[in-house]
Amino acid sequence: MLYQRSSRLFAEAEKVIPGGVNSPVRAFRAVGGTPIFVKSAKGAYLYDEDGNRLIDYINSWGPMILGHAYDPVVEAITEKAKLGTSFGMPTELETEIAALAVSMVPGIDKIRFVNSGTEACMSAVRLARGFTKRDKIIKFAGCYHGHSDSFLIQAGSGAITFGTPNSPGVTAGTAKDTLLATYNDLDNVRRLIDANPKEIAAIIIEPVAGNMGCIAPAEGFLEGLRALCDADGILLIFDEVMTGFRLAKGGAQELFSIQADIVAFGKVIGGGLPVGAFAARAEIMNYLAPLGPVYQAGTLSGNPLAMAAGLAMLRQLNADGNIFNRLEEKTAYLEKGIREVLTAHAIAHTINRVGSMISVHFDHRPVTDFKSAGNGDNERFRKFFHGLVEAGVYIAPSAYETWFISDALTYDDLDFTIAAIDKVAKSLI
Ligand code: PMP
Repeated sequence: MLYQRSSRLFAEAEKVIPGGVNSPVRAFRAVGGTPIFVKSAKGAYLYDEDGNRLIDYINSWGPMILGHAYDPVVEAITEKAKLGTSFGMPTELETEIAALAVSMVPGIDKIRFVNSGTEACMSAVRLARGFTKRDKIIKFAGCYHGHSDSFLIQAGSGAITFGTPNSPGVTAGTAKDTLLATYNDLDNVRRLIDANPKEIAAIIIEPVAGNMGCIAPAEGFLEGLRALCDADGILLIFDEVMTGFRLAKGGAQELFSIQADIVAFGKVIGGGLPVGAFAARAEIMNYLAPLGPVYQAGTLSGNPLAMAAGLAMLRQLNADGNIFNRLEEKTAYLEKGIREVLTAHAIAHTINRVGSMISVHFDHRPVTDFKSAGNGDNERFRKFFHGLVEAGVYIAPSAYETWFISDALTYDDLDFTIAAIDKVAKSLI
């Protein structure tokens, strides 16, 4: 495939945008080569500036669960745009999407919309601190909760790729209130709580980790966290930015039957527009301004275009009784295909999957936490990535990212992808 136009556009972008991108992982630093500039996308496919077509396994890092340019979402945005694009005043639409989200997710009474997953997690933590009147939080190494200061401590996603899990610019004062735990290690969490009794406001976790590859919570781990939180008056925050409205209507809370105290959303809830949200029972949410003392605000929060896109998306997910089963079946089919091909070529691998989140690690050992996520063979991943792009299949340009399956993918697309992996696997031996 040719990338002449992408290369030229990237060179131009580098002159005026740091690294040529507005979010670091897009720069292909982990895998090398030229970032692909997208011209358009429809359904399961991306079309780049050089005229190449790619089957998309990233789907904007999760939001496009029904595929790109999904007609009801596009129509909702287009119709709303004609009526004005931002007011900074309340609209009926905000109540409609809030009511629908509250009805779909277990245990939440109220929800507030923001503009990104970062804002959602940042606000959730502030609310937890205000509500509990405690300062410290526990986060897990390799989990990513956006780029707000308290989370850039052993963070996952691009922060790993770029070797800066602890970012300069985060003060020691902020860092000292973030305690680090090991994913899937309940004893480790227990020790942290014992060492800081009645001082921890919240434990924040990705209930299925998706930013160090995909990692499922071990049997009993989330239940254990729930019990530890209850025993010490700690709020449990589920960061469902990836898992929300993806693993089930009610996200990971529904899938695992665990009730968090505060839930953060992003990605799918915005239908591909810049949206995040956080939600909880009324007692906690009423702590927010203007009802309560914890301040949080946003000029563009609840933006009509974003709410229209999110509402169209949630309505579709709510109405389609089979969507999450279909996604499960498609992703299980893909998993089986990849496993058979890599096994046939004797390539050491571990495939982790929960529902429509899946990742391939080039190592035979189980991947259960940040440390084991680092065992993968990065050079092999680099070749795998470029081989697949060459074959017309786009996966995340980093070994530490999860693939997100969309319902627009057909079984022909999946077969094409498995065949491409078979071809690429030969070059990995
Ligand atoms: N939490 C999780 C689990 C995420 O995966 C991400 C982004 N990938 C965020 C928070 C931050 O969301 P955003 O990029 O929209 O700020």
